[in-house]
Amino acid sequence: MLSEELLEQIATVKENHKKVGLVQGSWDLFHLGHLRYILKAKELCDFLIIAMDSDAKIRKRKGESRPVIPEDERFEFIKLLNIANGIVVKPVDEPKWNLIKTVRPDVLIAIKENYSDEDIVKLGEFCGRVAVLPRQAETSTSDKIRKITIAADKFRRIAMAAEPNEKEDIKAGVLEAVEKLKKTIGFDGANMPDPVPDLIEHAKESTDWVAPVTAGCFYNQKWHFATNQVDFSIPRYDLKNRTELFYATIEHAEIKLLKRLGEVEKLDVPVWVTLFPCDRCIKVLADKGVKEIRYLEDHPERNWSKRSHERAKKYGIKLVKVTPDGEIYE
Ligand SMILES: [Zn+2]
Repeated sequence: MLSEELLEQIATVKENHKKVGLVQGSWDLFHLGHLRYILKAKELCDFLIIAMDSDAKIRKRKGESRPVIPEDERFEFIKLLNIANGIVVKPVDEPKWNLIKTVRPDVLIAIKENYSDEDIVKLGEFCGRVAVLPRQAETSTSDKIRKITIAADKFRRIAMAAEPNEKEDIKAGVLEAVEKLKKTIGFDGANMPDPVPDLIEHAKESTDWVAPVTAGCFYNQKWHFATNQVDFSIPRYDLKNRTELFYATIEHAEIKLLKRLGEVEKLDVPVWVTLFPCDRCIKVLADKGVKEIRYLEDHPERNWSKRSHERAKKYGIKLVKVTPDGEIYE
């Protein structure tokens, strides 16, 4: 929206017989064509206003997948270019040409494809002139996105699921991780309270070879368990290197457990986990009505654990650490 301050500045510029220019765009995935376009626009006036479509406006025109870069970031980018004298974010449901009619620029800078010849004549009513520029680069943001998508798709197909021998390695890794888990939590196999032996046994079904997390609960007269599952359809590189994509695509044991239980309205039983849940799982469990979490392993020095504990406290969830020496209440 146009601020009062900017409106006043525009009036002053006009009073001083200087030229106000207006250029508009989405400026999503800012590229060379955008920069050239803005610089050309700057040459044509003394005071350049850069208008930027809001996220909602772009979504409406180009679909849910756009913009790639959110509004705040696009705004800051344009601001830091230090070319514009004023930046305006265009809301989604603005009447046609509202900004142009309000600013009444001495020069409206436009790309040929965006306006018909008829439009350009009509726009002359509200502008000193319309400067129509050709496209400033071979590609557009949409082209770039198409290319990235094609490349990603190719890469995905090349780098598909692990090969059979890798699967064996993964299985061995899981078993090793389960042994490590036993050591970490200090239960050596004897005198383990229920359901710790089952939790550990189920951990072997996990496909995560570093954190074979199990979640379980006693519901409807029986125990239910679920484990962390890795998404093997992500590129092999991400699997091997446990990248952000890897972590983002792991199915967490807690979520899987809830799925397994089906349509449960309220889960008013303690949930057991081998590893303290992440903050997102805490939220999902809290939303399901879980009031108590009993866990075996935790890493209180890690940021994720701190976040999770804070969130659990916020939701009033009772936290119990189960150790060989007894239960520790938080
Ligand atoms: Zn989680």
